[in-house]
Amino acid sequence: MSESCLFCRIVRGEIPAKIVAESDECVAFRDINPQAPVHVLVVPRQHVGSLNDSPDPTLLGRMALLAADIAKREGIAESGYRTVVNTNADAGQTVFHIHLHLLGGRAMGWPPG
Ligand code: AMP
Ligand code: ZN
Repeated sequence: MSESCLFCRIVRGEIPAKIVAESDECVAFRDINPQAPVHVLVVPRQHVGSLNDSPDPTLLGRMALLAADIAKREGIAESGYRTVVNTNADAGQTVFHIHLHLLGGRAMGWPPG
């Protein structure tokens, strides 16, 4: 846990967020600046700064499976969706509490910008 970390504060309920799912290990909420009709962030309750910080592989698996479950409930599992973990500056990571973006509800280009 980190006192000042934005996503730790959302996990603790100190900052409001539109929560869409919760599990023992993860919380999922809508991105405040959505880049697609469905844009949800899946974060671990435990503070992990980024993918570089050797997170528990089980935790990453749980994050991915929760994203897939949300995709089904949001009705985008069949049409398709993208899951993204940005790491450090070149990828545009702005919040240093690991998070998995779940994006869907529109067709997306490849490669990403
Ligand atoms: P990244 O650029 O990969 O670090 O993604 C951080 C994401 O967090 C961005 O898509 C932001 O729009 C989102 N974000 C920042 N502040 C909040 C907030 N208070 N609630 C929900 N999403 C947020
Ligand atoms: Zn944190």
